[in-house]
Formats: sequence, structure tokens, C-alpha cells
Amino acid sequence: MSGLHPYANARIGLATMHEKERALGPAFRRVLGADVVAVPELDTDTLGTFSGEVPRPDALVETSLLKAELAFRTMDVDCAVASEGSYGPIDRVPLVSSGVEILAFIDRKRGIRLIDTFPTHHTSWRLSRFRASDPNRLAVLRAMGFPRYGVFVACSSDMDHPVKGLATEEEVIATMDREAERSTEGLAVLYSDMRAHRNPTRMKVLRAAGWQLAKRLQSLCPKCHAPGFGRIQSRRGLPCEACGDPTHWIDFEIDGCNVCGHAEARPRRDGRKTAPKLSCKSCRTA
Ligand SMILES: [Zn+2]
Ligand SMILES: [Zn+2]
Repeated sequence: MSGLHPYANARIGLATMHEKERALGPAFRRVLGADVVAVPELDTDTLGTFSGEVPRPDALVETSLLKAELAFRTMDVDCAVASEGSYGPIDRVPLVSSGVEILAFIDRKRGIRLIDTFPTHHTSWRLSRFRASDPNRLAVLRAMGFPRYGVFVACSSDMDHPVKGLATEEEVIATMDREAERSTEGLAVLYSDMRAHRNPTRMKVLRAAGWQLAKRLQSLCPKCHAPGFGRIQSRRGLPCEACGDPTHWIDFEIDGCNVCGHAEARPRRDGRKTAPKLSCKSCRTA
């Protein structure tokens, strides 16, 4: 391996209003020697915000690519990164990740467009509804980690206009009562502010996602040396341990290059050469 990575000392633009450079910066500096620089004065909120609904993953991919492109409008950089997250209510589906961070990376000079997905169980997402003067509202607010964790308050019949930037318990409680009174159902909605700078849990997940992306970019294509050589798909069909028929278990992973299309198959990381009999259709029906 040669000494310097192609991104050593490169500036990588990041469109964010939410201080995400704090989460992504350290990994990019440590792994690649690159500097993540926040693009100033960008209203990324117009591209989508947490509104209590969970957007579809393909919409997230598009939004994150659009956000990354935003960096090129105002900054003289070849590379840009952006993130987009989606979080659902905690504990709704056990063992299924309740959140996902999607990181988009674009290198317009080399023609690299990478999407890195980072599913997570770690989320602080909560939403509850209250009538005005509900005696539980303060306890719930505190259980949400406020003020270390930010919250939004909305009127249940007008969810599109949440009140943001609430700083004290008194302010939140007063806003909840006001929004409950103007709601046609008499309910205020209190929910987690998932913007990175107001949500330490999300900041942590973003940091982990940043490491994953930086590691991926660290690996260079063996053919053309473009950064980002890594897993593009897996092939199923690991043979059954008893009869040798192909099963739905992953047989090998395929690493690919985003630029020249070079691809290589690599065996399973766990070294397994056969799948358990239980996973085999032929053996089960025999
Ligand atoms: Zn079998
Ligand atoms: Zn290549």
C-alpha cells in the first residue's frame, strides 16, 4: 500500500445546519487524513425534517444525495458528504432496528457516488399526546432527557408547524398547554427533536456511521485505485452441510468499485463453508 490516501488533506464539504461535522469529522481525519468542513448557511431543513412520520428509505437516499450536492454550490471542493436519518418509535418492533442513518458521499472528480446505510437500535425517539394541564407532562418531558435532549411541541391538528427551540421546562409546559387549547382534539403532541445537535444519541449513531463510511473510503480499488472499494452485493446459495444443495444462506460477498466496475468475490467472513441442515429445503421436505 502506498503511503498517502487520495483524500489525505482533502476538504470534504458537509451540508448541515446541525453541527454534524462534530460527528463525522474525527473518523474522516483519523482514517483518511481528510477535513470535513461544514457548508455555511444552508437550509437543509427544506429537504425534509422529522415530523413524526417515518419516510421511506429510498426517499432518504435521494434526499441525502441532494444534500451532498448542495455543498458543491457554495464550496470549492471535489468531495461532499451528507446524512439523512429516519427513526421510528422505540420498542415497537423488538429486535428490528428502529432507526437508520444514510450517508451519501460524492466525489465529483472521480465520479464516485456511495450510499452507506447504518441501521441502529439506538434511538431516543418518543412521541406522546397530552391535554392541557395533564399532570404527567413534566415527568414525561424529564424522562425524554430534556433539556440535554431537545423536544418539539405541536398541536395535534396542525402537526406541520411544530414549535422548536424550546429551552426551559416552563417554556415547554406553557407551549404544550397553548397548543392543546388550539387543537381541535384538545391535544398537544410532545416529541423528540432528532436534529443531531439536539440529540446526543443520534450524534453517537452518526459518529459510528461516519467511521463505517471512512473505513469504506479507505479501501482502494485494486484495479483503478479509486477510494470506496467494498461490498456491493452478496450471493446466496451456501451448500447444505448434509446434502450439498444450495440454501438461502449467503455463499460469498461481492466487493465492487464505484468507478471502473471491477468486482471480486470474497468468502464469508465467519469462514463457514456449509449451511445448517435446518436451513435446507431439500433436507426439511425429505
Ligand atoms: Zn440438505
Ligand atoms: Zn476501480
